[in-house]
Amino acid sequence: MSNTPSGSNIVTRFAPSPTGFLHIGGARTALFNWAFARHHGGQFLLRIEDTDRARSTEAAVQAILDGMSWLGLQADQAPVYQHQNAARHVAVATQLLDTGHAYKCYCTAEEVAAMRETARAAGLPMRYDGTWRDRPASDAPEGLPFVVRFKAPQTGETIIEDQVQGTVRVANDQLDDLVLLRSDGTPTYMLSVVVDDHDMAVTHIIRGDDHLTNATRQAQIYQALDWPIPIFAHIPLIHGADGAKLSKRHGALGVDAYRDMGYLPEAMRNYLARLGWSHGDDEVFSTEQLVDWFSLDKIGKSPSRFDTDKLDNINGHHLRQHDDAQLCALVCAMQPDFDAHRESLTQAMPLLKERAKSLHDLVAGGDFLRAQRPLSLDEKAQKALDPETVDRLRMVHQRLAHLPSWSKTSIEAELRAYMDENQIKLGQIGLGLRAALVGNSQGPGIFDVLALLTQQEALARIADQI
Ligand code: GLU
Repeated sequence: MSNTPSGSNIVTRFAPSPTGFLHIGGARTALFNWAFARHHGGQFLLRIEDTDRARSTEAAVQAILDGMSWLGLQADQAPVYQHQNAARHVAVATQLLDTGHAYKCYCTAEEVAAMRETARAAGLPMRYDGTWRDRPASDAPEGLPFVVRFKAPQTGETIIEDQVQGTVRVANDQLDDLVLLRSDGTPTYMLSVVVDDHDMAVTHIIRGDDHLTNATRQAQIYQALDWPIPIFAHIPLIHGADGAKLSKRHGALGVDAYRDMGYLPEAMRNYLARLGWSHGDDEVFSTEQLVDWFSLDKIGKSPSRFDTDKLDNINGHHLRQHDDAQLCALVCAMQPDFDAHRESLTQAMPLLKERAKSLHDLVAGGDFLRAQRPLSLDEKAQKALDPETVDRLRMVHQRLAHLPSWSKTSIEAELRAYMDENQIKLGQIGLGLRAALVGNSQGPGIFDVLALLTQQEALARIADQI
């Protein structure tokens, strides 16, 4: 059996169920599908699996769309909403009935519960016992509800050549006859996903390995319909630092939370890519490189671990490579009162991003630019302003007040002259100056801080403390 759709262009999809946020695992699945499609010049599609009408909320759909858009994972077509395809799913179930690949099962809820109980008592997974599998249509009770079951092959095996997991074999006698249509006529996930993937011409299904057992069942449905089976790639799940499957307990959050924590989308893409995929020893790379390098054979077989320190580190690298004007815009979006200080913020950006790990660090580092006089000083800053230091600040104030030009070079030259003449080290005046100008220990080097403020503002802040 060949499971390669021949001659078709590559089409991938991300198929989230909108029952929560776009969580980290989902975002990574989306990224892998996106990167694979982009690498091959194919199509990346989005399908919202909203057949569970009770649990699918509009807010959750919006959170997925927002998360994808923030991450820059643009789908190539409008999203497909699975519940809108229900009639088509039912039609395919009918086709399977007509071709003898499915049958109506009239077992009552009690009978099915009894099968479940028998299996449970024997320590086995639930198996439908086949009661209605081969019964003639004439046995069908009039007017009673039924489900439509797939008539799964009972002999032989189903084999999947998974691009990550390798060859996956299941003996067909291990798979029972799953439900395709519920007694209310609605299609099940297992049917819908196959029909939609086929109709959307999906060639590669890249998703979490929690779907691996579904894949063999889905493969059987493809075979019964005589449809080409897409290529599967089941990626190991993400674990927390303690090695357990990533969950809310680990602080697993929606991607919106990472945006709010000040991570850049390109850093998230870089970090998420490294959760399970690798390119040699490369840890920091651009999205262009990711697209260039991405291949399924470099997805690892063991679960990856979520590591916030590594994410911070990668974010720091991307901040330093990011355009300064754009960073200013992001900082202003977070703290609109920076808008009035955009010019000095732009000048400060190359210095601020030097040590920053998140956009919040840029905000904290640049805070002194927008601080209002008189500054409120933190405890350390207050302590730094002892009487001796204040005396020195008086001297410094005088000398800086007479500086004809206000630049880092002229400021530094003047202060160094003052220190030389009075045999003072930088630390003996620097801490006091930072206290007066910044109010805390944040911000760039002290000569830069002075130069980034206007002469008038710097002098006024010093005067406030003397
Ligand atoms: N809707 C499923 C989920 O969110 C994914 C289905 C699939 O990828 O085939 O887990």
